[in-house]
Amino acid sequence: MSKCFFCGEKLRLEDASIEHLKPVSKGGTRTEDNEVACCATVNHTFGDMDLKRKFEFVLKSSSDFKCPRVKGKASTAVVPEKLLLAATPENHGLAWSEKEEKQLLSRYQQDMEIEAIAQRHKRGVGAIRARLVKLGQIEEMNQT
Ligand SMILES: [Zn+2]
Repeated sequence: MSKCFFCGEKLRLEDASIEHLKPVSKGGTRTEDNEVACCATVNHTFGDMDLKRKFEFVLKSSSDFKCPRVKGKASTAVVPEKLLLAATPENHGLAWSEKEEKQLLSRYQQDMEIEAIAQRHKRGVGAIRARLVKLGQIEEMNQT
């Protein structure tokens, strides 16, 4: 039985996934030196983050990093907001393109969690909320 590369938990076959340290979408190879076994949920969370960001993410979440556990719903695994806020998102501060706004809208309208949307857009949760406010999708949070 193998263990998760990231959290060290023993993996059951049905919960396991292969993580490509360098995403295949970014030129990573499907070879043993680029593949590790890990929890399916964390694999989904990482998406095609590059290796540096994955480690930043794991390291910043302190020594007791645990892969997200969502029973029977690996596809909607969501990482605690504080972890997302700890890692500076890749697209932090970049201007929004019209295309990205459309993606944001459609994801939001499909009831995707804001945390999950933030991961897809590689932006912070706060930035996603702010943009949704701007787009008239949600009301500004109470500042009191
Ligand atoms: Zn794990």
